[in-house]
Amino acid sequence: MLSRNELNDLAKSIKRDFPIFEIHPGLVYLDNAATTQKPASVIERQSRFYDHSNANVHRAVHSLAEEATDLYEQARQRIASFINSRSEEVIFTRGTTESINLLAYSFAKSGMVKSFVVPTFEHHSNYVPWQQISKIFGIKFLPLRLDGLEVPLEKIKESLETLKDPFVFSMTGLTNALGKRTPFEEIVKLVHEHGGYFILDGAQLIPHEPFDFAGTGVDFLAFSGHKMLGPMGIGVLVGKEEILKRLPPFLYGGEMIDRVGMEDTSFAPLPYKFEAGTQNVAGAIVLATAIDYLEKFDREELKNHIQNLTDYAREKISSIDGLRIYSPSDSHGIISFAHDNIHSHDLAELLSRLSGVAVRSGHHCAQLQLKELGVVSLCRASFYIYNVFEDVDRLAEGIRKALRWFA
Ligand code: PLP
Repeated sequence: MLSRNELNDLAKSIKRDFPIFEIHPGLVYLDNAATTQKPASVIERQSRFYDHSNANVHRAVHSLAEEATDLYEQARQRIASFINSRSEEVIFTRGTTESINLLAYSFAKSGMVKSFVVPTFEHHSNYVPWQQISKIFGIKFLPLRLDGLEVPLEKIKESLETLKDPFVFSMTGLTNALGKRTPFEEIVKLVHEHGGYFILDGAQLIPHEPFDFAGTGVDFLAFSGHKMLGPMGIGVLVGKEEILKRLPPFLYGGEMIDRVGMEDTSFAPLPYKFEAGTQNVAGAIVLATAIDYLEKFDREELKNHIQNLTDYAREKISSIDGLRIYSPSDSHGIISFAHDNIHSHDLAELLSRLSGVAVRSGHHCAQLQLKELGVVSLCRASFYIYNVFEDVDRLAEGIRKALRWFA
């Protein structure tokens, strides 16, 4: 195990792999929960695909198409090994949002469930699709309000006991507004005991933790490439094969078919049944490169470093007058805060303008969670593997400087 300072030195060396920090030498980038920066190997892989291997996949027999298809399928295998699933279970999407829309639509259409249960602290991408698609198909939508910063298993159990028919329960592994790690491993068991399907929104969790899809027993996992060093516009849905087989396709078109008749069509096997039309082939291949980069390191050590940064940030900013921290005391990778007298947009703007510190401000696509906390807007500092203690010092100094500017 590396010490705290050794981990910080590792992060410093990681930072050197990211061209954006050379181009913007003064930048302290703390908006990683929104999207991460990309290492040179990822950026280069994207242009190498278009320089060397660009062709549409699965369609032609010429050698360039075969090369692109091989790379695309190797990327699928790489992602399967990253989260311990099988490649037939890995479906490429545009991101977590599309993965969840796919599931909401396909579950609703399948008639396999009677209700969707979703905690109110979810990101809008894991709330609004269930809420809206339930209306179209006449499925019951059951928002689950879990007051406070904890995720009480007893309360979840009580709610599940009221359900008589099969249902979907969709929840995040790490909340994006506050950085709360949910005890989803326990909740998966409860959901299965009560006859439900468990979907994990891994948009925030997967960038931070090694994940064992087969071992945890979740039925589906959704995540986005751009939050873990990969490109925008590529994401993943992983699902248990036996359930995916029973779900109808989400989008219809080329590549997802088996035979097309005048009146009806049969569909391709997994995973192609869920990949209609031309896919983001380069995105999938580059995501595999991002995973190669991440897995060069001991991910537990990276996680420890990010926890050290989070704890250090809490310590540094908690003494600032009028500043309130909203993240729970065990938050991971995220510290959300607000000042009693200054709107969070103003604070974020001044942090950027006066100190070069990039944080996010606003409702963080979690309006219901913020409403329950009694705030309309928060500043959020979020850390990733290239952040260092000096970035946290710059954040704390930056907040103080912004407050002086307002005084
Ligand atoms: N779920 C969570 C918890 C998120 O934090 C985000 C993005 O911030 C999403 C879903 C949506 O991800 P994307 O915009 O990549 O589809």
